[in-house]
Amino acid sequence: VIEIGTPERAVVTTCAYCGVGCSFKAEMRGDELVRMVPYKGGKANHGHSCVKGRFAYGYAAHKDRILKPMVRESIHDPWQEVSWDEALGFAARRLTAIQEKHGRQSVGVITSSRCTNEETYLVQKLTRAVFRNNNTDTCARVCHSPTGYGLGQTFGTSAGTQDFDSVEAADVVMVIGANPTDGHPVFASRLKKRLRKGAKLIVVDPRRIDLVKSPHIAAAHHLALRPGTNVAVVTAMAHVIVTEGLADEKFIRERCDWDEFQDFAEFAADPRHAPEAIESLTGVPAAELRAAARLYATGGNAAIYYGLGVTEHSQGSTTVIGIANLAMLTGNIGRPGVGVNPLRGQNNVQGSCDMGSFPHELPGYRHVKSDAARAVFERLWGVEIDPEPGLRIPNMLDAAVEGTFKGLYCQGEDILQSDPDTRHVAAGLAAMECVIVHDLFLNETANYAHVFLPGSSFLEKDGTFTNAERRINRVRKVMAPKNGFADWEVTQMLANALGAGWGYTHPSQIMDEIAATTPSFAGVSYERLEEAGSIQWPCNEEHPLGTPLMHVEGFVRGRGKLIRTEYVATDEKTGPRFPLLLTTGRILSQYNVGAQTRRTANSVWHPEDVLEIHPHDAEVRGVAEGDWVRLASRAGETTLRARLTDRVSPGVVYTTFHHPTTQANVITTDFSDWATNCPEYKVTAVQVAPSNGP
Ligand code: SF4
Repeated sequence: VIEIGTPERAVVTTCAYCGVGCSFKAEMRGDELVRMVPYKGGKANHGHSCVKGRFAYGYAAHKDRILKPMVRESIHDPWQEVSWDEALGFAARRLTAIQEKHGRQSVGVITSSRCTNEETYLVQKLTRAVFRNNNTDTCARVCHSPTGYGLGQTFGTSAGTQDFDSVEAADVVMVIGANPTDGHPVFASRLKKRLRKGAKLIVVDPRRIDLVKSPHIAAAHHLALRPGTNVAVVTAMAHVIVTEGLADEKFIRERCDWDEFQDFAEFAADPRHAPEAIESLTGVPAAELRAAARLYATGGNAAIYYGLGVTEHSQGSTTVIGIANLAMLTGNIGRPGVGVNPLRGQNNVQGSCDMGSFPHELPGYRHVKSDAARAVFERLWGVEIDPEPGLRIPNMLDAAVEGTFKGLYCQGEDILQSDPDTRHVAAGLAAMECVIVHDLFLNETANYAHVFLPGSSFLEKDGTFTNAERRINRVRKVMAPKNGFADWEVTQMLANALGAGWGYTHPSQIMDEIAATTPSFAGVSYERLEEAGSIQWPCNEEHPLGTPLMHVEGFVRGRGKLIRTEYVATDEKTGPRFPLLLTTGRILSQYNVGAQTRRTANSVWHPEDVLEIHPHDAEVRGVAEGDWVRLASRAGETTLRARLTDRVSPGVVYTTFHHPTTQANVITTDFSDWATNCPEYKVTAVQVAPSNGP
């Protein structure tokens, strides 16, 4: 029995975990958060929630939180608590000295998809208007940057096409490289409800995720592909659709570029893309793949939902393009029940990308090379913006190792734990002269920091998050910041310590600036959000009430563009020394690298990461259930316990990455997506051997 006090007031706000963006009532007694109650008026969750949003908020009051700024001359010195003025002055002096000595491009920032739109907008503004370069990147680099590229190329904008309610009109749902039950639980409930009412399900995943068979649900087809072969599978589906006459020619003629379609159709029809031709490569039986393609093309309204199992590959962008091709080929776009829907991992991945956190894009996905786009911000900010794209996160780390990148402001992101090839990240950080970590906790990255600026939790600030269906939800302050300042205020203070002279007094003013500069947000304001509850962008003169479904009349880019999707094998190869393929994912109760959920009662549900291994692979290695095993790749090794299960196929092993003791990214490689550098987390050649423990 959990005893709770009587709440005195309730504030409606938004969950700070996944991209579903559930609304909650934070029930308060004084300054104490008594409980989080799912809010019935929330348009993303309609009163539902999962165990993270409902119970895992205790991290905000955890004793590990750092509430006072700290500095140190060198990363080998002990931390010293200082005043905010001293910390910001220290940071400003170091950054200024670095730029004077090493040039304008020698510093940069990493923004966080955990922070609000307003905070993220300010961080990229700090980069462009104060640092005077475009060295701003976001943690979306390591998750959905291929979505940005792939959907931008094919449809014209980087966003899911549907609202969550749309799934209720789907007749066929294809889930590829996503595990909604664990990653997006409240959306998964909606999806399961629809499946129980008769919609057909296709799962494309190396692992037998829960959706494949759960109470009253059985996938019509589970394509258990070999990790790294997504492109071959989606191209083979296109082959079936084209060669069996299942393409929606009327839709393609009316809505897509016909010449591009003909070129794509010729490519897809090539016999080398036939399901039979790729069966041994992918491990997917040809008949099963053909049946799945036929179902997707002819089963009525067909919707695709995908996740990081699509994007975190060397061909992540190509698979996103391949998925968009399937939707255009079959006319499954622009009405309820269809579409292409990236399930965003973090609460504000969509918003972080919308707000110009990429080194090549200003807010609203406008390229920095565009004179017209830069002019909008130059007029308002009174500075010239660098027209050259800046450094991506991996480029920043490479440049740091090479000695040309010296200063980093890292907000709300633990890159040492979350980015691939931990040793390289550590080497890059260690080579810098000023690393500023702005976070709730002294995370692993802070081991390499010179300045620590305490962060504020989602309970301590006003702002907005944008969820996976482009829904802008209000985040409302339910208590004063424990560290004294919300994150947007800290960024403003840092900018002003560098001479910026900003004077925002409330995040609503930042949103007004976003609306004034970003066409898709032109109609958004805090007043409108209060009236409407939430708004899906684009919201402007053309769409004053927002836009639940995109590409209804035409694509954002005009005509949809089908693009060839040539399969290119990853350079990460199995061989006698590393014969198994490791793929990674999340579990329901935990969240990403666990900085928050590990500091809540949720830890009891998943106290450690384990290695899922097929019983056959375990037996030949002499590994039994619960044994310690050594998991090694060409990059590094770690130790964890084995769980024997046929959820994974022989030859494939799987783990989560929630616990720093596991350090899963010690073993992931530095291969990445060809277009965006999104790391190839999902394919690592490994060996597994019995171990005596860590
Ligand atoms: Fe939070 Fe996502 Fe769970 Fe909703 S589904 S409560 S947004 S973690």
